[in-house]
Amino acid sequence: MIVHKFGGTSIGSAERFARVADIILDHHGQGDGAGVPGGVVVVSAMSGVTDQLIAGARAASEGRDTAYRKIKADLLSRHLDVVETLLDKRRERLKVGGLIEDRLHDLELLYRSIAVLGELTARGRDAVSSFGEQLSVHILAAVLRERDARSRAISSTELIVTNDYFGAAAPLMDPTRRRLQQRVKPLVEQGVLPVITGYIGATEDGLTTTLGRGGSDFSAAVIGTGLDADEVWIWSDVDGILTADPNIVPQARTLTELSYSEASELAYVGAEVLHPKTIRPVTQRSIPLRIVNSFNPAHAGTLIVESPSADREVLPAIISTTSLSMIVVGSEDDSWTLHMAARALHELSEAGVEVLMLSQSLSEHNLNLVVRDKDQDHCLRILSREFRNGHENDVVRLGAEEKVSTVSAVGPPGWNGKRNGIAAQAFSALGECETRVIAVAQAATERSVSFCIPEDQLAGTVRFLHRKLGLEDGDQPNPPRGQCKTEANL
Ligand code: ASP
Ligand code: MG
Repeated sequence: MIVHKFGGTSIGSAERFARVADIILDHHGQGDGAGVPGGVVVVSAMSGVTDQLIAGARAASEGRDTAYRKIKADLLSRHLDVVETLLDKRRERLKVGGLIEDRLHDLELLYRSIAVLGELTARGRDAVSSFGEQLSVHILAAVLRERDARSRAISSTELIVTNDYFGAAAPLMDPTRRRLQQRVKPLVEQGVLPVITGYIGATEDGLTTTLGRGGSDFSAAVIGTGLDADEVWIWSDVDGILTADPNIVPQARTLTELSYSEASELAYVGAEVLHPKTIRPVTQRSIPLRIVNSFNPAHAGTLIVESPSADREVLPAIISTTSLSMIVVGSEDDSWTLHMAARALHELSEAGVEVLMLSQSLSEHNLNLVVRDKDQDHCLRILSREFRNGHENDVVRLGAEEKVSTVSAVGPPGWNGKRNGIAAQAFSALGECETRVIAVAQAATERSVSFCIPEDQLAGTVRFLHRKLGLEDGDQPNPPRGQCKTEANL
């Protein structure tokens, strides 16, 4: 049995949903109930939907009624459009369309109660964030049924039991496994193709939780492990994990085989195609994981296993993340304290704002925080409320400084036959490239180093580093110095 997970971009439109149905049915998605192994599908929300849901909840908590109503209306028309386009049978169209309307009506009620309370709790945020997957599963299952597969949408709130750490809940493997074995396994054995929501779970008491942003990969791994799947396939929109972002470096190469720990390191520094928590569950039962491309299903992608084959090519990789913002919070004088830094981080964590990198220099009285662009305004509001309202003693400097990106160099131990890890090479390459480094974070294992740099230097830096790490064919790389000053001189 294979667990196939499809992310938001793979189901971003009616056309994409149809492609996904083709892929599932081509890849032994449906068993015959008599020996041919079946599959299980795990699916995210349509691209951008979870962001919109959360933006609506924030708007509701700030009393911006028109904003959340518009979000609800947009979500309704986007999902109904897909249903209209894809489902031919009137009965299915009415059933799925009606279900979507009902769910989004519930969403509006939830938004309204958040608006009345004027407060968004972590629990409320999870309840809101869970709606996207609860819509997409029904659409995909219906599309599969129209193609004569016996498919059924299932909410993972009935399957994945978690603790109550809202926003990043941890699955409890024993009860989860029991439910998967009792409820999902028999369906697969009967030749039914379950389509399960990614990203969400519920506590023992039935409160909806989420496993963290991008958590559908993690859900697929938990489901695969609980069902003793043969493999878990993560379908994304690139040919596996690559040596660099192919949009920046067209020559980037696919890492064909990785060990669990190598893949985990890449995921933790931000490899978009794999949620960092995905590896741990599959390790328990040594289940192979594949990263494959739903836009290019013929490509073998990246295989992640306990012990990769001895003759595989071992390569370093560059992981970059863009659309980030650098926020500075501090004092004009030396009144900034560690306690104030702790308050800032606490408030952001409570508000569900993920801080990707942070630094505090000894000489500057402030904290630098790297957050996603889309969280920037919310982050500033939270910090302003904490430090500027009613705390006259906090003379706080607060602002979004600039657009930044992060770039990480990751190298498995000994990949270059040298004693020092990849950090030394990365530092020297960035120096040579004249990249302005704003902050640095290094793994103590020396397997990876991450830099925060100005956004307009990202592409140049990544290309330079890719060549310097010997990842391109041809002569030993020796690109000109200082070429990474700005995007303009590339
Ligand atoms: N829909 C969720 C998110 O956007 C989970 C996922 O895409 O994996 O974070
Ligand atoms: Mg993802």
